[in-house]
Amino acid sequence: MAYKISDECISCGACEAECPVGAISSGDDKFVIDADTCIDCGACADVCPVSAPSAD
Ligand code: SF4
Ligand code: SF4
Repeated sequence: MAYKISDECISCGACEAECPVGAISSGDDKFVIDADTCIDCGACADVCPVSAPSAD
């Protein structure tokens, strides 16, 4: 299962730079993860200041 970013996201952009496969991009009101690209590494969750990314 891919990671997902919750509505807690404050669009700081920290996770986008950490993703090894470029699965994260800026969405309309928060950052989003492309489920088909995400390899479940957890790096985004580790750097997020508000714990918005989580595994389903
Ligand atoms: Fe990228 Fe890893 Fe987060 Fe998936 S879990 S979006 S691969 S940093
Ligand atoms: Fe949103 Fe967290 Fe990513 Fe920042 S690190 S853009 S708050 S999910």
